Amino acid sequence: MTSDWIDEEYNPQTRFNSLQDFEPEFWKKKPLDKLSRAEWELLCDGCGKCCLNKIQIRKQIKFTDTCCRFLDCNSCLCKIYPHRFEKVPDCRDITLAAVREKPRWLPKTCAYWLLDNGFDLPTWHPLITGRADSVHEAGQSLKGRPVVSETGVEDFENHLVDWEDL
Ligand code: SF4
Ligand code: SF4
Repeated sequence: MTSDWIDEEYNPQTRFNSLQDFEPEFWKKKPLDKLSRAEWELLCDGCGKCCLNKIQIRKQIKFTDTCCRFLDCNSCLCKIYPHRFEKVPDCRDITLAAVREKPRWLPKTCAYWLLDNGFDLPTWHPLITGRADSVHEAGQSLKGRPVVSETGVEDFENHLVDWEDL
């Protein structure tokens, strides 16, 4: 469906309802470049933090408290997920090359970045808990944070934030 709004029927939990069909702890058994598409997608914790706007200052990426206008800050879901690359030219596909880009532009808690850098998934990750909401309950997503939509923001430098999980 082509829409600027999240399909109201979509429930993020559906991604984690068939975990029994996957090899237990597959992320510990295969390198990231050997994961199937479905396994790769399951690694995303749904935090929404990669949809914050960022500025590169000298050689560092600095995050702001402004987010893409298509992010629903309550659910942390993209409102246009199937069409995101057509509508937002700087929306990034999360590929292994993107995960390895320097300077780092994904948050420190991003599952892809963690695994690629030798860390395990955090205890609140939906693949560990089996529940999509655990990322929000642990305070690790954008839900409940003072984030504003980029629409109308004139100077992103006034919106820099230094949250410890970015
Ligand atoms: S930061 Fe990483 S884990 Fe969080 S939503 Fe983006 S890709 Fe998924
Ligand atoms: S278009 Fe891209 S950056 Fe914007 S909310 Fe969707 S996934 Fe995030």
